[in-house]
Amino acid sequence: MNLSIDPRALQFLKFDGESGSDLGVYKTLLESTRAIPWKIDWATKQFAYIGPQIEDLLGWSQDSWNTVDDWASRMHADDREYVVNFCVSQSMAGVDHEADYRALTKDGDYVWIRDVVHVVRLDSGEVDCLIGFMFDITDRKRNEEQLLEMQKRLEALSFEDGLTGASNRRMFDSRLENEFESARRSGQPLTLMLIDIDHFKQFNDLYGHLKGDDCLVSVASALKQLGRRRRDVVARYGGEEFAILLPETDGEAARAMAERCRMMISGLKVPHETSDCADFVTASIGVGTVIPSPTMECRSFVQSVDKLLYAAKKNGRNRVSSAVL
Ligand code: GH3
Ligand code: MG
Ligand code: MG
Repeated sequence: MNLSIDPRALQFLKFDGESGSDLGVYKTLLESTRAIPWKIDWATKQFAYIGPQIEDLLGWSQDSWNTVDDWASRMHADDREYVVNFCVSQSMAGVDHEADYRALTKDGDYVWIRDVVHVVRLDSGEVDCLIGFMFDITDRKRNEEQLLEMQKRLEALSFEDGLTGASNRRMFDSRLENEFESARRSGQPLTLMLIDIDHFKQFNDLYGHLKGDDCLVSVASALKQLGRRRRDVVARYGGEEFAILLPETDGEAARAMAERCRMMISGLKVPHETSDCADFVTASIGVGTVIPSPTMECRSFVQSVDKLLYAAKKNGRNRVSSAVL
């Protein structure tokens, strides 16, 4: 919104307009719009005028607005310093300006206001007064906040697996690249765990795809308990495969984490009658830890962990195969 104010429109602030005269018409018009006109004398910093609508909007009576301190003190504490400094510096420079802030109502609530300010100068160039309009922009701010919230949510969703709420493959790939480079620079160990549910095709065949989906959701929420540090990533890597990235985790801790992970999954006790390794759903896990050398590629790290997973499958499933690479 860019509203410039024609100072002639506020002439009535200097002369009491008789109703019916031109100035009276201006006054009636200005006092019946939703925008609230006001005038402050620069020398005294006192309100020369504020529209009666202010009482409807904020609850403070028209005659309670005496000085700029009344204006500043009825502003949200978080907005005050910035807005007051900005308005004072713009006014001193003689520059018209706008400011958004939360104004305190008499009931203790806040209303978003946009103040549009015109600086009136004397012929000498000195600032004479400020005149402006206050607009209630609460609805607009609310819409903006909702839009921002939706944007954040959408962004989060684009990194999330729709079924399990774990990170999706896209998120995982980008975090893996970052953490791999970070581990290379810092010399800290990085651990990657690949987790694959055992005989999941048979599970679907016996219990149906929907039960299969439920099982994936349960496994994912168990895994989320494990990767809880800020930089840990728990992701759905593919169909019935999950990946957990654990920065700054050495081989010993990695192996212990993987074993806990395996036990948590079998501990869910999701029945799986046709599995040949247990009566319940189990998973095989490959876990590798690396301090990347200057020439090592991230891809080859993932391939090595994939081989460990394959070894866990080959050695009988429902087990962990680990290595420091
Ligand atoms: P293994 O022990 O060797 O890992 O055997 P497996 O049956 O788990 O492996 P396989 O790769 O043969 O089959 C994976 C199955 O996972 C097949 C597929 O239908 C199932 N699957 C993949 N994504 C989903 C999903 O989103 N929901 C459900 N319900 N099943 C899925
Ligand atoms: Mg698989
Ligand atoms: Mg599998």
